[in-house]
Amino acid sequence: MQNLTERDKKHVWHPLTQHKTHPNMLALSKAEGVMLFDEKGNEYIDGIASWYTCMYGHCNPYILKKVSAQMQQLDQVVFSGFTHEPAVKLSEELIKVLPKNQEKLFFSDNGSTATEVGIKMALQYHFNKGEKRNVLLAFEEGFHGDTFGAMSVSGLSVYNGPFEEHFIQVERIPVPTKDNIGDILAQLNCRLEKENVAGFIYEPLVQGAAAMKIHDGKGLNQILELLKKHDVLTIADEVMTGFGKTGRFFASDHLDLKPDIICLSKALTAGLVPMGLTTCTEEIYQAFYSDETAKGLFHGHTYTANPLACTAALAALELLQTKEIQENITNIANWHQQFDEEIRNYPKVANTRQLGVIYALDLDIKMERYGNLRDKLFHHFMDQGVFLRPLGNTIYILPPYVISKRQMEKIYEAIKSAIELV
Ligand SMILES: *Cc1c(COP(=O)(O)O)cnc(C)c1O
Repeated sequence: MQNLTERDKKHVWHPLTQHKTHPNMLALSKAEGVMLFDEKGNEYIDGIASWYTCMYGHCNPYILKKVSAQMQQLDQVVFSGFTHEPAVKLSEELIKVLPKNQEKLFFSDNGSTATEVGIKMALQYHFNKGEKRNVLLAFEEGFHGDTFGAMSVSGLSVYNGPFEEHFIQVERIPVPTKDNIGDILAQLNCRLEKENVAGFIYEPLVQGAAAMKIHDGKGLNQILELLKKHDVLTIADEVMTGFGKTGRFFASDHLDLKPDIICLSKALTAGLVPMGLTTCTEEIYQAFYSDETAKGLFHGHTYTANPLACTAALAALELLQTKEIQENITNIANWHQQFDEEIRNYPKVANTRQLGVIYALDLDIKMERYGNLRDKLFHHFMDQGVFLRPLGNTIYILPPYVISKRQMEKIYEAIKSAIELV
């Protein structure tokens, strides 16, 4: 019998992978807490919480207990015409913690579908009101997912380049800095006179796929304020930033202006099963509420509001609000700051940034996003027993909330030795 890595090559096609240059997948056999274990018994600290999902640790016993009980009760049902306790309860619990203007929740399957639904809500909102608004605004380096609407509003890159001709109509603006905000607002002012902008989609404060770029909250507030004056719907993509990552419940909680629509996924279900959510204000919901059937939102996925996913989300929400988790979020932010003081003056470190449990540094070296030097860094981390995925010359950490100080120190040590290596 061949090992898993060899068997994998025969039929499996992996995401974000050029198989010719990267043929070998590491076979993992187990995960527990913040640790990943491979087939050979090597262990790795999951320094990015498996793409920011498993924030309460892998195979969290509390979440498993709740979901296994739900599994024996009600597994999956159609969500048009039917409803169930886990979905209703989740709506009640989430409304308590979401920004105050949010009233309705629309369920889907993942982060891309959550943003896709947000985009469709914004476009159909104006359509239902009889206004012809067909352009979306987005940030230049944003990332909103891999389906067509989501791809269209993402920044141009290797991810979406081949499909550019098929995009929905989008206009991209730079992220705000203290220096460019005046220009951005001036350009937007001219642009908005045309009155055909339906919505603006943005990752509030932190752009994950752009390598954890953090932008100016004041500038973002000013942009949102201007857009609201022109009835442009604002769509906060909190798929990455949601559920405590930035030190607040949602990144939008750091801002004065509240979004009309919020997209959620990733940590929503704590990494156990996929689910997406698009939440919105009563005003948006009312634009679809009508005696005319066709004014409804005719979007639906087979697994909408899957009871197991809703149960995982409820358990995760409970954990997030415990004193232990809240305290450790503060601890992680403090450890990052101490590490930052040590490292930010290293000659090879060009700049560093931090918000909540998110920490990133750029090396003072030109590197391709998926090039050889980046791979060398990745393998160095794995050799040290740490799973991090550098993006070009950016090294970032986004650890599970349950990580210990000792485990965090192991990650910091691995980063320091990686910097020596390049
Ligand atoms: C990951 C991500 C998405 C896409 O989510 P998927 O579940 O991978 O489809 C969208 N927006 C942001 C900000 C993300 O980080």
